[in-house]
Amino acid sequence: MSSDISVIVPVYNEEQTLAAFYACLSKVIDSQAETFEVIFVNDGSKDQTESMLRQLRQHDQRVKLVHFSRNFGHQMAITAGINLAQGRACIVIDGDLQDPPEAIPDMLQLWRSGFDVVYGVRKERHGEDSFKLLTASLFYKILSKLARIEIPQNVGDFRLLDRKVIDALKSIPERNRFVRGLVSWVGYKQTYLPYERNARHAGETKYPFWKMLKFAIDGITSF
Ligand code: UDP
Ligand code: MG
Repeated sequence: MSSDISVIVPVYNEEQTLAAFYACLSKVIDSQAETFEVIFVNDGSKDQTESMLRQLRQHDQRVKLVHFSRNFGHQMAITAGINLAQGRACIVIDGDLQDPPEAIPDMLQLWRSGFDVVYGVRKERHGEDSFKLLTASLFYKILSKLARIEIPQNVGDFRLLDRKVIDALKSIPERNRFVRGLVSWVGYKQTYLPYERNARHAGETKYPFWKMLKFAIDGITSF
């Protein structure tokens, strides 16, 4: 029998954050009424991430693993997770504890009350340098001027999607996927959940400047 909720976690070289993330996530999902699967998409990690994931899998049957043959990028990892999710809803969450698993119960509550998309909206962003904050806010400003659809500002990929939305996303043949844009674009009943964005638990951002730039170009040219 498939699980009620699929948690999708893209990970790239996260050996320093994985144990803490898993501990926090499992505590949260243990407290919920639904059954869960946790899909880790290992985006071509070169550190101990893969073997650590295999160990998690051995003692927790809710854990499912996808290993990419190389680094394809965050958006591709999320897309693979969404395509494989079997739940009636999925939650996409970063593996570095910047998106707090503690917000998941509130997301689920909004879903139970009838929403199809629950965006995590960043109230505060801790531990990010002013360059990142400036370029991010500039990017969202430019995007909102150029895009034909409303893409909410200060929203990352931390969100819940109902099965209806998952199926709609799966039917879109777009290749360079700017997932947060596609989610706004498909419609359905959408709402927000404000949360405090923490500093990364450990390690460094896996989004160096050139990856951010490619991400921004994909977002702007797609929408
Ligand atoms: N990530 C990924 N592939 C990449 C870059 C990042 O799967 O090529 C994962 C990463 O492990 C993390 C999430 O995507 O779980 C967000 O990346 P990161 O925290 O480095 O980005 P930032 O929060 O600095 O924007
Ligand atoms: Mg991060």
